[in-house]
Amino acid sequence: GKRIVLASRPHGEPTSANFRLEDYTPPAPGAGEVLLRTIWLSLDPYMRGRMNDGPSYAAPVPVNGVMEGGTVSEVIASNNPGFAKGDIVLSRAGWQTHALSDGKGLAKIDPKIAPISTAVGVLGMPGMTAYTGLLEIGKPQPGETVVVAGASGAVGSAVGQIAKIKGARAVGIAGGKDKCDYVTRELGFDACLDHRDPDLAAKLKEACPKGIDVYFENVGGAVFEAVYPQLNAFARVPVCGLIAHYNDREARAPKWASSIMFAILTKRLTFRGFIVSDFAAMHGDFLRDMSQWVREGKVKYKEFVTEGLDSAPEAFMGLLKGANFGKQLVRVGPD
Ligand code: NDP
Repeated sequence: GKRIVLASRPHGEPTSANFRLEDYTPPAPGAGEVLLRTIWLSLDPYMRGRMNDGPSYAAPVPVNGVMEGGTVSEVIASNNPGFAKGDIVLSRAGWQTHALSDGKGLAKIDPKIAPISTAVGVLGMPGMTAYTGLLEIGKPQPGETVVVAGASGAVGSAVGQIAKIKGARAVGIAGGKDKCDYVTRELGFDACLDHRDPDLAAKLKEACPKGIDVYFENVGGAVFEAVYPQLNAFARVPVCGLIAHYNDREARAPKWASSIMFAILTKRLTFRGFIVSDFAAMHGDFLRDMSQWVREGKVKYKEFVTEGLDSAPEAFMGLLKGANFGKQLVRVGPD
């Protein structure tokens, strides 16, 4: 077997020196345990947070520990009556080719419903993040305008398409023309803007002539600075991610804080941060609605696959910079 461990903690942008590929012999499963073989490893922006030490909503990966991550895995040996050899399961096996599990936290995946990779994508954690944050906090109404960045990515692509299903206008923000073309032509967003455009604020004004009612915050940084003056009274801002800041070395000076506070007061804005697990009770609703939308072609998804566990560090570093075009996956082993 092979595994990738956190060799050292990054200062700023991660580099390949922060990761180490190791060979190891996967242990035999003990009583009540199963041995898993990884098929798909999901790479997600939150992993950058796990590489840091210090307080957060989740514990850091220890130095020399296996990098954490969601996987789609196959049971290849089982001493657990709940799982049979050949079962496909959603697991948190991390960046490794094999893992032991006592069965807790494993969820069986039915390969007949959808391609199994969707269990870590549109029908998994990122899809659920879009669904819960948009519907529970954003609450888009017919005719309202919803803006989301990372619009071609795992979460953002679903946010805009769900906004359309709910009768709202969807305006995406993405890195570059190819991503923007995909977002409008394939995903059916009403408009999409390039966040590297120096005239982003002016372009946003054109694309949102009636202002912005919901801003689904995935990035922070310059995108937020362009968006927030255009928020309408009573706008809702689900604060989902701040990927523009994950590599910041220190907290930014709060130069915007007072003007944001004034906007929150005078426009009666709602900002609410959330972690997808806050809405675990909605998992059944999510799976029902999202599976139906995917089946009906109302929600489309795109996967960006790199081959082999060895490709994970580079793919992860790319994900933080927009090298991915769609949900970032690593194919660790054959289906
Ligand atoms: P994506 O598939 O969207 O990939 C990340 C994308 O972020 C990149 O492709 C890039 O897209 C964009 N990006 C990177 N840097 C910047 C920047 N400086 N300005 C604008 N865009 C940037 O990832 P996910 O869909 O998995 O995650 C999207 C967001 O949702 C992240 O912030 C993530 O942390 C958050 N999240 C939060 C969860 C929660 O529970 N709160 C759960 C899951 C995700 P582009 O080329 O378009 O710039």
